[in-house]
Amino acid sequence: MPKVADQWLKDVLIALYQRQAVTRDEILQVTGLNPASASHALQYLLAVGTIQKMGSLKSSGGRRRELLKLNPEAGYFLAMDLDTTRIRFALTNLIGDIRYREEQDLDFGNEMKIRCLLDGLERVQRNLAPWQRARVLAVGIAHPGVVDASGLVTAVNLGWCKFPLAEQLRQVTPLPVFLETWCRTYILAEKWLGQAQDCNNCIFVELGRGVGAGIVAADHYVEGSNQMAGEFGHITIDMEAADECLCGKRGCLEAIASGPNIIRQYLQLLNGSRRGNKGMQLSAVLEKARNDDPLALQVVNRVSRALGLGLSHLVLLLNPGLIILGGDLMQGEDLLLPRIRKELAMHVPGFMRTTELRVTSLGQDIGLKGAASLAFRNSVQNSDLLKKLCRPLSETLDTRKPLSGPRLARSLTRA
Ligand SMILES: [Zn+2]
Repeated sequence: MPKVADQWLKDVLIALYQRQAVTRDEILQVTGLNPASASHALQYLLAVGTIQKMGSLKSSGGRRRELLKLNPEAGYFLAMDLDTTRIRFALTNLIGDIRYREEQDLDFGNEMKIRCLLDGLERVQRNLAPWQRARVLAVGIAHPGVVDASGLVTAVNLGWCKFPLAEQLRQVTPLPVFLETWCRTYILAEKWLGQAQDCNNCIFVELGRGVGAGIVAADHYVEGSNQMAGEFGHITIDMEAADECLCGKRGCLEAIASGPNIIRQYLQLLNGSRRGNKGMQLSAVLEKARNDDPLALQVVNRVSRALGLGLSHLVLLLNPGLIILGGDLMQGEDLLLPRIRKELAMHVPGFMRTTELRVTSLGQDIGLKGAASLAFRNSVQNSDLLKKLCRPLSETLDTRKPLSGPRLARSLTRA
């Protein structure tokens, strides 16, 4: 077999990951590889079992075009989503499908120990056969903190201040560890597995306990000079506002349009209370607004105005083709989305003809799927991991009890 360059393999694997079922012609078109290079790479990947044939399409000229896909069981990733109140652990297959999952509740602000993360990763792998374990490629982590230039993580809710997360994990697991902030893993998940696959200028806006943005501009993930790009929640949206933000300023978008602040504003209007949320849930405020409660509607209208104005700044600055909204606030999609659209139509009417506004369809798994995509993206760029991924399946498969097709899938879906 002719020598196959890593770059050809990487290009073909990425094309297949993002599209799931493609013809050879589509691979040529997407990767820009010359036909001989693409053909060598495909031949090699088919021979080792990293990709599979999945039937053929009949084209209009009568020629049959073969469809190819990644072999989902050619590799596995460990994914972790460090949420504010719980950690989610998962084992995913090569294409980001979650095979096993575990969740663990957290005490807000208590320091999270590395041992606890390691135990979770071990538990999601416990049902894997040895040959499958040999194909676990890397760990991907979505976290809510800030990473400085030396890779140290600061995340208040996890009790970490300049914490060497990746370094500590690398000391206790032989697997490579890749981590990224929440919003950037979310936009990665949308770009690789979700609604932004064909959009090179797109933004994910997380609306939950906090507000943040993951930005892709001209097909590049925007990180900023100090890894701080996307702190959308801290743009000042109302200079006269009394709403205090956790960052110390007043009038930040997050101080108005985040879950805890929606509850706070409602209770303040209701009884003038500035203290705590008294156990009230965001869903209760939204339900009151649906039932025409004037105070809840007042809050929803103010939040929508703030979000519409904030998003209009993103539209003007970055001219995205797609903005995807996610997070807890989207349980109020029916209330918020029409109001936000109205605000955008008022502030940036011309731009909204080319900018779509949608809600994520990846649900609560978006962090895990983004972490798995992060691990995949980094794995195909690393020649050792690429080699591991392209190791012939027959070498690692238990030949005494070969599993394939439905039997293999069954063995992996006992969650
Ligand atoms: Zn702020």
